Amino acid sequence: MKAAIFHGPGKMTIETRDIPLCPEGGALVKLFGSTICGSDAKIYRNGHPKIVPPQIIGHESCGQIVEIKAGDSPLKVGDRVTIQTSIPCGSCGMCKRGIYNLCENITAISWEHPGTFAQYIAIPAKAVELGNVVKVPDHLTHEEVCLAEPLACVINSQNFLNIEPGQTVLVIGAGPTGILQAELARLKGAQVIVAQRSERRLQLARQFGYRGYIDTQNGDLVEETMKLTHNRGVDVCIVTAPVQSVQEQALHTLAYRGKISLFGSLGVGKSDLKLDNRLIHYKELSVFGCASSTAHQIEQALNVLATGGIRTSGIITHTLPLDNLVDGINMSINGEGLKIYIRNW
Ligand SMILES: [Zn+2]
Ligand SMILES: [Zn+2]
Repeated sequence: MKAAIFHGPGKMTIETRDIPLCPEGGALVKLFGSTICGSDAKIYRNGHPKIVPPQIIGHESCGQIVEIKAGDSPLKVGDRVTIQTSIPCGSCGMCKRGIYNLCENITAISWEHPGTFAQYIAIPAKAVELGNVVKVPDHLTHEEVCLAEPLACVINSQNFLNIEPGQTVLVIGAGPTGILQAELARLKGAQVIVAQRSERRLQLARQFGYRGYIDTQNGDLVEETMKLTHNRGVDVCIVTAPVQSVQEQALHTLAYRGKISLFGSLGVGKSDLKLDNRLIHYKELSVFGCASSTAHQIEQALNVLATGGIRTSGIITHTLPLDNLVDGINMSINGEGLKIYIRNW
């Protein structure tokens, strides 16, 4: 099979590898393609402590089961599927509470297990057993199916925010995740404002026709937010931009009882934030984190995508063959387009 092999920061080659064997209790999935995640670009540039090269990375995929050795699974050969990346242990304290994304013994596809920038992937038995392989609706395209994983992470983050119709939601950062955040908030009836620094991505975001836009290159985030909300501030702020100063500033955009989600994580050693206690105290603000998603949230994401409520055609802006994966990663780093779909065949 053809596979993109990550050999360390900045080193990726397209190679021919043996098709992996279907593990006992697991499944073999033929992969149609994957979308590039911001984390793939980060791994390509900097590596990752949990990834030992050579490794296949990639995790936002659509494929088809070609072999399955799990007799009691409802899945069968021929099913079109997507995969929840994080594989929980199923037995630790967090797993017992059903919070599988925070499993104490978590492993992940594209970290410890080979990822999806390849023509086939072997799914470990534990992943099949715990529902990580999710059957997808027939009418969704392969490209749309790939959005289920990032959308599941967005669903996880918004679960903490209880967005209500008519509320104002500010999304900072108009990359693919920012637009998915904005789309889901819009579906919930929120008035969405998008703030973005780069001209190119701001232009892409404008096509979605949200209630307001803030060009943070030419205007102050807090001042502009207050102008757009008659000095009230926003009910919810979601910061997808992994920038320390932006996360600190974002707190000041909130209205009374406002909620902020720090969706973008900051680098190790660069993650200290200076947050105004008086603001949090007297305005009764809430600050939320979020990490990854669960298999159940992948199902929820597929259901949302199946309704057609998310404008996917504006989100998947490019398609490239697997041979050009590095070009796609560089486009993603440079903020060209939004989601880039990599065809494996
Ligand atoms: Zn992702
Ligand atoms: Zn666990």
